[in-house]
Amino acid sequence: MKFAENSGQAAEYLRQAVPLMVKHNIPPNPLNYALWYTYVSKRVPELNQELDKTLTTYGTCPSLVGEQMFREHMIKDEIDSAENVQAGLIALVNNLHEHAAETVENTKDYSDVLQDSLSALKGESDQELPLESIIHTLASKTEEISVSTQRFQSRIDEAQAEIEALKAELDKTRQDARVDPLTGLFNRRVFEAELSTLLHGEAKGGVTLVMVDVDHFKKFNDTYGHLMGDKVLQYVGKLLMETCKQPMLPVRFGGEEFAVLMPATTVNDASELANFLREKIQAIRIKQKKSGEVISSITASFGIAQNQPGETIENLVERADKALYAAKENGRNQVQVSG
Ligand code: GH3
Ligand code: MG
Ligand code: MG
Repeated sequence: MKFAENSGQAAEYLRQAVPLMVKHNIPPNPLNYALWYTYVSKRVPELNQELDKTLTTYGTCPSLVGEQMFREHMIKDEIDSAENVQAGLIALVNNLHEHAAETVENTKDYSDVLQDSLSALKGESDQELPLESIIHTLASKTEEISVSTQRFQSRIDEAQAEIEALKAELDKTRQDARVDPLTGLFNRRVFEAELSTLLHGEAKGGVTLVMVDVDHFKKFNDTYGHLMGDKVLQYVGKLLMETCKQPMLPVRFGGEEFAVLMPATTVNDASELANFLREKIQAIRIKQKKSGEVISSITASFGIAQNQPGETIENLVERADKALYAAKENGRNQVQVSG
């Protein structure tokens, strides 16, 4: 994200942002300044909506929620650029391939010239060529081929530098110990920290936990392969990220299990959302490249539990897990609520 305001306007935004941050008890760090600066500038309406909702839910903006908004609304372009690494690599390889083809073409041409020259020198050629002419052709073709190979070599050097840069960019995103590299969702560590804030902090309205587990996923992997399995997990991750906006927090819990924290959400609303997700997952269609077969058998089961006063994290997770287990026992592809 680029900031194009002049210094007068920027100062005005900051003058408005600081009292708001104080009012809502927001730690004055650079990330929060950026977030609240953007909030008062109203340049990202979705950010304002989400922040308003978060303030209503928590009375403040918990640091992790703020961070997630920052990721999504302010540095998403940069994150997306890491996702484009693969496209960058493909373009690079194509480009190299073209240059290689050109060089090979020139090399072939050169070897033809060498062959012709040799024949002429041995007197095997149909036409009598003066020695000067043969040497001249050889010299000029040798010059040509060396320029062309040099050009290719320098292209390879450039490509190597580009690949290094792309790799570094990718590593930077992957190094974030709180983000699951396969799906881009926050991981279980973040889940636990956030749930602890919700249960022990000043959040009003409690929290409802939704656990999601892909059905018969072992069999899916065995049938269609691990890579195809990864694709399914990425799809489910994307679905959760797009559907469960702040102040909800979707995470990859581990393996083929996901979880969504829904602050200040009734069990009914959570069930409705879970059913929406369930139907979306059931509607996934993946075409297998090799066989052309369309896979349409992906489903997931859901377990829901709302926190009780004074309940521990472990207890809440256990109850949601039990509800999930009941959903599995009862035939899978369904939502169960902890009683
Ligand atoms: P259930 O319906 O009872 O949940 O059955 P299930 O087969 O989904 O459950 P189980 O726990 O037996 O197997 C989970 C499988 O998920 C096994 C494991 O290989 C697979 N899995 C876990 N993490 C990943 C991953 O990152 N990628 C892929 N492709 N598979 C994964
Ligand atoms: Mg599981
Ligand atoms: Mg499973």
